[in-house]
Amino acid sequence: MVVDTETGKIVEVGNGSSTNQVVDEVSDMHGRYVMPGIMNAHTHIASIPTYWWNDGKEQRHSDSREFNTMFAVRNMADAIDHGITYIRNVGAAFDIDIEIKKMQQKGWIRGPKVMTSGKAFSITGGHGSGGGYEVDGVDEVRKGVRQAMKNGVDNIKMMVTGGVLKNGETPDDIQFTPEEARTAVEEAHHKGKTAAAHAQGNAGVKEAVEAGFDTIEHAFDIDDETIAMMKEHGTYVVPTMNAMYAIYKYGKDTVPDWAREKVIVNIKKHFASITKAVQAGIPIATGTDAGTPYNGFGNESAYEMELYVEKAGMTPAQAIDSATINCARAMHIDDQYGQIIPGNFADFISMEENPIDDISVIQRDKDVYQNGTRVHAQTVAEAVKQSRVTGKVNAVI
Ligand SMILES: [Zn+2]
Repeated sequence: MVVDTETGKIVEVGNGSSTNQVVDEVSDMHGRYVMPGIMNAHTHIASIPTYWWNDGKEQRHSDSREFNTMFAVRNMADAIDHGITYIRNVGAAFDIDIEIKKMQQKGWIRGPKVMTSGKAFSITGGHGSGGGYEVDGVDEVRKGVRQAMKNGVDNIKMMVTGGVLKNGETPDDIQFTPEEARTAVEEAHHKGKTAAAHAQGNAGVKEAVEAGFDTIEHAFDIDDETIAMMKEHGTYVVPTMNAMYAIYKYGKDTVPDWAREKVIVNIKKHFASITKAVQAGIPIATGTDAGTPYNGFGNESAYEMELYVEKAGMTPAQAIDSATINCARAMHIDDQYGQIIPGNFADFISMEENPIDDISVIQRDKDVYQNGTRVHAQTVAEAVKQSRVTGKVNAVI
C-alpha cells in the first residue's frame, strides 16, 4: 500500500514489496493484518460513561458546557488510541461536537474524524430532551432542523420513541408523530444531509422507516413487515448492543432501577431483533451509543463487533464490514472511507492477529494510522488486551 501523507490518501494497493512510486519512507507490515479504521455511527462524544458509577448517588454535575467539552476531548483521544478513526456523533449538548469536529480538523486535538448532529430533537419532555432541542408540531420541527443545519450539523438526530435512560417512558412509546418525523427527514434530505432516528419499539421503528430516515438507531423489536419496509427504503440499522448489555452486566448497584428494569425487559428481544435483521440481510452499521453507562470510547466499538458475532449471528467478516464499509455507506462517505483502495483516505489499523479468525483480536492493542500517518503505536510487542469501561459483573447472558 502506497499512501500520500500530503493528501492523506491511498495511492496504490497491490501484492508484494515493489512499486513504481517513489517513496520517502517504508513501514514493514509483514506478518501483520491490516483493515480500515473502525467507524462508529452512534456516539455521544460529550457524555461521560463513568458518571453513573462514581458512587451511584453523586449529584449530576455534568451539565456544564466546560465539563462536557473536557470529556469530549478525553473521549476523542481514547477513541483514536483504540483504532476508531471516524465517528458519527448523534446528540451533543451545546452543539459541542460541531466545535470538536473543527478542532480535530485543525489538528488541535487528537481523535477520530467527526460527523456531527449537534443537539438531538425531542418532543417537549421526551427522550433526550435534557440537552437537545424540544420541538412540537411540524412548524417547530422544520424551523429547528433548519436552525441545526445553519449551525453546521452534518446529520439530523431525532428521538422518535421513548428509551431506556429517561424515567417515565418506555422504548415502545411513540413520541414524534409521523408528520413531524417526515418533516425532519424532508428538511435534512433537501440539504443533502442524512437523518438518524432513535427508534426502539416496533411501531416506532416502522414510523421512522416510513418517514425515510437513513438509519434506525437501536431497533429493539422488529417484525417481518418492518424488515420488508427497511428493504424497500434501503434503511440501515445501528444496533448499539453494548449500550443495554453494559447496563445489564455492570449496572446493578449504580444505574437507577427504573433504567435497569427496562433493560431486563428488552435486552433479549433486542438481540433477537438484530439477529433477525442480520438474517434478512438488512445492512448493519456499527454503533455503540458510547457515553452511556459503562459504555465508553475505548474497546467498546470492537467489543460491539464481537457481540454481533456472538449474539446476532454475524460472521467476523460481516462484523468488520459493519464497522467499516457499512458505516461509510450509512454516513454517505463511502467514496472516501471504509475500504483500503486507491482514492480512499489512509485511515487504517494494523494488528498481529487475523480478525477474520477471531473477531476479539481487534480489542488488542494495535497500530493506528490516520491520513497515512501513525497516530498510535502498539505499546508492547506482545499485544495485550486493553480494558473497556467496566465494573463489577452482576449478570451475563
Ligand atoms: Zn444514543
